[in-house]
Amino acid sequence: MYNIKKFKKILVANRGEIAIRIFRACRELGIRSVAIYSVEDSLSLFRTKADESYLIGKGKSPLDAYLDIDEIITLALNKNVDAIHPGYGFLAENSEFARKCEEAGITFIGPQPSVMASLGDKIESKKVARAAGVEVIPGTDKAIKSESDAIKYANEAGYPIMLKAAAGGGGRGMRIVRTEDELLPNFRSAKMEASKAFGNDAMFIEKYLENPKHIEVQIFGDKYGNVVHLYERDCSIQRRHQKVIEFTPAFSLDKKTRDNILNDALKIAKSLNYLSAGTVEFLVDKNNNHYFIEVNSRIQVEHTITEMVTGIDLVQSMIYVAEGYPLNSKEINIKNQDSIQLNGYSIQCRITTEDPLNDFAPDTGQITHYRSSSGFGVRLDGGNAYTGAIITPYYDSLLVKVITHARTWKDTISKAIRAIRETKVTGVKTNSSFLLNVLNSSEFKNGTCDTGFISKNPSLFK
Ligand code: ADP
Repeated sequence: MYNIKKFKKILVANRGEIAIRIFRACRELGIRSVAIYSVEDSLSLFRTKADESYLIGKGKSPLDAYLDIDEIITLALNKNVDAIHPGYGFLAENSEFARKCEEAGITFIGPQPSVMASLGDKIESKKVARAAGVEVIPGTDKAIKSESDAIKYANEAGYPIMLKAAAGGGGRGMRIVRTEDELLPNFRSAKMEASKAFGNDAMFIEKYLENPKHIEVQIFGDKYGNVVHLYERDCSIQRRHQKVIEFTPAFSLDKKTRDNILNDALKIAKSLNYLSAGTVEFLVDKNNNHYFIEVNSRIQVEHTITEMVTGIDLVQSMIYVAEGYPLNSKEINIKNQDSIQLNGYSIQCRITTEDPLNDFAPDTGQITHYRSSSGFGVRLDGGNAYTGAIITPYYDSLLVKVITHARTWKDTISKAIRAIRETKVTGVKTNSSFLLNVLNSSEFKNGTCDTGFISKNPSLFK
C-alpha cells in the first residue's frame, strides 16, 4: 500500500555530536553510514564512528567544507548513498540543498524543500502561522526597504522593538532597540551581520517582549499528511538569545496555555502537511499570552529530552518516514496523538569549552584528562570529548550534552547536578560551574526562569 524505499547507506552532512547521534541510529537500523570531514576535523572522533569517512573541502575554510552542496552530493553519488541526513546547522535548513539532493535521486531526510523554503524565512513563516490561525508576535509583515521605513515601522510598533534578520539563526542579526536614537546604528550593524552570516540582509521589526519564556513544540509528520506533536520544551535558560539548558515538560505553564500552544503548533504542522521532525517556537509573556516566532525545519540540539520522556527515537523515526513508512507503521509505532505518553521529566545541559569567568570566551587546546559521568538516568550525547582530544577554534564549542531523566522534577535536577559534578575536564576550560549555579538556583528549581534569567543574575558566572 505504501511505497517504501529501504535505505542501505546514509551520508551525514554534518560533524560532531549530531553526526555520531545519526550514525548510531543508522547502525541500530542496519544501515551503513558515511561521514564527511574537513581537514581541520581529520583528528575528530566523529568520523571514526561511521562505517566510511571521506575528506571534503580541501582548500576551503573549515566552515565552507561542510557547506559545499555540489561536492557533498557528488561524493554521495560516487559512494552509492541512498539518503542524506543534514543534522542541525550547516545545510540543515537549506532548501536548495534538499532540492538538489532530490534532483540527484538521493533522499533528503527532512521536510519537503518547498516547506523548508517558506519556513527558512522568518517573515514568510509568520505568514504561514497567521494563515493557520495562529497569533504571531506583532511586527512588520515584509522586509524593511529603507532607513526611513525602519523609523516609521518602529514608531508604529512602539518601543522597545526587536530588529531581526529574515534569514536569522543562532541569535545572530538580532538587536533589541529601546529608543529611536538607538535604531539606525543597530539597524545598520544587524544588517551587516546578517549579510555576512546568511548572505541575506533582509530585516524586519517585531515588538520586543520583556523577558518572555521560550516554549517550543516538537512536531513530527509522515508523507501521508499524518502529523503529531511530541509535547513541548522550555528553552528559556538562554545566554545572548542562545539556549543553554532545556527541559521538558514545561510544568510551570498553566494547563490552558500549554494546551493552546500544543494545538497551535499542530495547526501549523497540519497546514503544511509537515514531513519529518520540526520545532514550532513560541514566546510566552507574563500574562500567559503566547506568540508564534518561528519554525525550525530540522532536528534540534535539544531533541534528546523529548526522546527521553516520550520514548520515541526521533532520528530513527526521521529515517523511517523518509523511507516512506507511515506514523502508525510497526516501525515508527505512533498510532495516534493520544498514544504518545509523557513519562517523567528530562533536562539537557550543554557542556561547552567556554570560560564563564571570562565572558564565555571559547577555550581551545588539548584535553589532558576527561572523565565522563554515567549511571541511572544519565544520557551523554558527545562529539569530541576524550583524554588527548584537541579542541580547535573552528567550530562551535559544544563538548557534550548531559541529559538526565527521572520520574520527578527534583530527581531530574539532582541527577543533572550529580552528572555534571562527575564530569571532569582538564586542559581546557568549561562552563560546568555556571551550569551548576543555574541548576542549584531556586528559580530553576521552581521552573520560573524566563529568557532574562541569566542576564539578570551575574552571580551565576562565578
Ligand atoms: P534564532 O533563530 O536566531 O535563534 P529566534 O527568533 O528563535 O532567533 O529567537 C531567539 C531568542 O531571542 C528567543 O528565544 C527569545 O529569547 C529572543 N527573542 C526573539 N524574538 C523576540 C521578541 N520579539 N521579543 C523578545 N525576545 C525575543
